[in-house]
Order: sequence, then C-alpha cells, then structure tokens
Amino acid sequence: MTRVRFAPSPTGPLHIGGLRTALFNYLHARKNKGTFILRVEDTDQNRYVEGSESYIQEALEWCGMIPDEGPANGGNFGPYRQSERKAIYKKYIDELIKKGGAYYAFDSADSLKEARNKSEKSGETFKYGSQNRHLFQNSLTLSPKEVEEAIKGDYVVRLKVSPGAVVQVEDLVRGTVHVDSDLLDDKILMKSDGMPTYHFANVVDDHLMKITTVIRGEEWLPSLPMHQLIYDAFEWKAPEFMHLPLILKPNGKGKLSKRDGEKEGFPVFPLQWKEETPGFREMGFLPEAMVNYLALLGWNDGSENERFSLKDLEEAFDVSGVQKGGARFDYEKARSVNHQILIDTPSELLIENELVKRLLVEFPKEQWLDLLSLVKERLYTLMDLKEETTFLLRPHPYDEKSLLKIRGEKTVTALKKIIALLEKNDSGKSIKEELFSWAKEKEIPLGIVMQSFRLSLVGRLTGPDLFEICALLGKNVSLKRVKDFLNHLN
Ligand code: GLU
Repeated sequence: MTRVRFAPSPTGPLHIGGLRTALFNYLHARKNKGTFILRVEDTDQNRYVEGSESYIQEALEWCGMIPDEGPANGGNFGPYRQSERKAIYKKYIDELIKKGGAYYAFDSADSLKEARNKSEKSGETFKYGSQNRHLFQNSLTLSPKEVEEAIKGDYVVRLKVSPGAVVQVEDLVRGTVHVDSDLLDDKILMKSDGMPTYHFANVVDDHLMKITTVIRGEEWLPSLPMHQLIYDAFEWKAPEFMHLPLILKPNGKGKLSKRDGEKEGFPVFPLQWKEETPGFREMGFLPEAMVNYLALLGWNDGSENERFSLKDLEEAFDVSGVQKGGARFDYEKARSVNHQILIDTPSELLIENELVKRLLVEFPKEQWLDLLSLVKERLYTLMDLKEETTFLLRPHPYDEKSLLKIRGEKTVTALKKIIALLEKNDSGKSIKEELFSWAKEKEIPLGIVMQSFRLSLVGRLTGPDLFEICALLGKNVSLKRVKDFLNHLN
C-alpha cells in the first residue's frame, strides 16, 4: 500500500518548487491507489510564520490536491502537526539512547564555540563526531553519576555515528550513493528545549506514518545518509527515496528565487501571500494550467505530449519519468499552457471564476458569456480580459499609424455603405454577406472595408471577430461608432 507525504515547514508561503513536490507526491499516491498525507513540520519555533499552514492548505485545494490525511481532516496516524507530537519524539529518543544509537551531550555554547574557532584556525571545518567526541562533555565521557547530575540541566541528544563505515543509500532518481561515515557528524536529534530537530522528527514520523516513498526536493539529498543511519540505529526499514531536481532560474543559472520573480515580474507562489506580490492565481492562471505546467518541470511521460489534466496525470505519472537535471523555469511556457487551457475551457465554467467576475464587473451579466466566447482565444492569462474587453465599453483612441494607412476615398465610400447596411439590418452579423458582395462589385479591396470598419469599432486594427463585436455592441452603438469615425475622417 503506497503512502506518501508532503511535509512542508510553515515558514512562509509555498514556493512553486514546494507545490511541485506536493504534486508529485499526490500523483504517485493516486497512480498507485495509495494515500497522500499532509504533515506540517513545525518543530522549529523560530522559523514559524503565522498563516503559512492555511496558505499551504488553500494552495493544495486550489490545485485539486486534497490530502487524504492531514491536520485539516485527520486520519489514523495523527496528529499531523509535529508540534503536537512532542511526547512521541521523547519516547523514541529515550529508546534510541537505550539502544546505544544516541547519547546526551552537555557542552556549553561557549565551549563549542571555542572548539569551532580552534578548528577553523587550523583550516578545518568543525565536526562533532567519532574522531573527537571523547574530548567533550557527554554521556560517553562522563560517569553515570555525573550524567545523572548533568541531565538536570540543559542538554541535547546526538546521534552516535560509528566510524569507518560506508553508508549506502538508494535514490530513485540518482541511483546508489555511498558516503564514508567518517564524513558525517553526530547530528543533534533533540534540542535543549526538548524539541526534536527536523532530521529526527522526519524519520520517526515517516516510520510511524508507514510512509513507503519519500518524495522531496533535492536540497535534502545530503541529509539522506544521516537519515539512513537513524533508520539503522532503530533497526527500521527505510522507505524508498526520490529527490526531485531543482527548479532553476529562467537563464538556467542557479535556483529560482523569490527575487527572480520580483525582478522579472512573474509569480513564484501559487497564491498571493499577505500584501506581497500576487501569485499565479491572482495573475490570472487557472489551477489546471498551474498543475499542467508544474508537472512538466522535471517530468515527462516519454512522449511529445505536454498537455495533461490532473486526471490524466494521475494515470500517466510514473517516477521513472522524473529527470535528473534541474528544470528551467519558463514563464512564457507557463503562459502558453494557460492560453491553451483557457481556449479549451467552456465559457460557462470560466464565468464562475472569481477573477473573471471581478474583471467583467462593468458589463451587464447577460453579456458575460458572449463576451468570454468572443475574446477567450486571445487570453494568455485572465488578466488580459481587461485589455481585451475595454474597447467594448469605449473604443480605444484611433491608432494614428492605422489611420494614415487607410485614409482615402475608398474608405469613406466603404464606411457610408456600412452605415447604410447597419441601418437596415437588426444585427451586425447579417450585414457580412451583403457587405462582401458589394465590395467585390465596386472593386473596393476587402482589406480597406474591414480595416475601416474595425478602426471605427475598436480604434485599432487588432481584436476578435468583427461581426461578433458588432453583434455584441448592438446596432445602435455600432452605428454611432462608425458615424463618429466617419466624422473624424472628415
Ligand atoms: N520540512 C521539510 C521541508 O520543508 C521537509 C523535507 C522532507 O520532505 O523530508 O522541506
């Protein structure tokens, strides 16, 4: 039975890299008819940021990835917030000490600092481990009586790494990794405030929550050997691991950061965070596009296909399709995915979108559906709706260059004909045929006819289908605009 978890730390908004980790976990669970768990890793009180957990929950829901187990909906392996599991960690740390896999350390901050300075002076990086642990104050060097006394004060618990061993770990993306245990230090597992460190809580919880596959960002790969040692010390079977490639800056140089987004004007968060920069949702992306784009950041199904709904992905996703190298973030690509999905989304669904409702507020509700159908193909994000529809409220100022291009006798003749046709027809749509055959007969180029008509209605030479615009504006408004334009030319 596949069980995976997304285990964010609530230290701020979820970066799209984190959202991709959530997605790959979710997909691996769905593909294998398993369970997708949300676990909040909030043991580091100093980094805790109010509002992050609800942000994470909302971002997952927006994308349609509802956890099967988690703080919001419970489950049989809770609690799902690490801060509520303190007693569990205490029990397991005691067990590990008893087993000889960990030990108490009583060194003061000052003595550690002194030791660190000394190493650095001789050009070495300080490590508290098998080579020098005998030089410090800990339960391996003090007598049982001294330990009993010392334990009344502050202490930490450290992992006891055995010297001279080769730690072997497997990663589904990178393959086998070997690390010499002499390179590892005796990491702190329990801090002096009684809280476990990330490493300890993470391993204990993955074990107790019966996680079968750990899928997380590549930045955790260096911690894997140490996690393996914790599993070994408990004599637990470790889950399988998969570390996802980094998401790189658009130029491919280094990890994508919040600053890159600010500098270049694209979002790096799914949703708006507090008063800060808007997220993909607020920038006018559909969640379907967010999911589709994220899936392509470091994964493919081996074909050329780049179009996937969440449902498709639940079928198609396979860990073997995850690439090793970093995945370059490409905002234009994200926009074009959104564009395709907007085109394919029925207007009836789009008018339910909160952002759409806000952007169309100046138009009567009865027009929304037609309006969306008219401009949908021109949208890259929903935000483009504003730009694509304002001319319906008032034409853009006439574009000077276009005016120069079409000015002349034929334009005036064409405009007069358009006025005459509009006057005797109820709908703008029905004048099309007559206008075209008239132009042919009079040998007035269709380009001139259409461009002068378009300039009158829109103010520019670009925009959606002209006769559709005409229908939407209605006979009176269309007539007035063509007459105004003719006046302007005169
Ligand atoms: N809490 C860690 C993070 O914020 C989780 C890493 C893991 O999945 O093990 O990334």
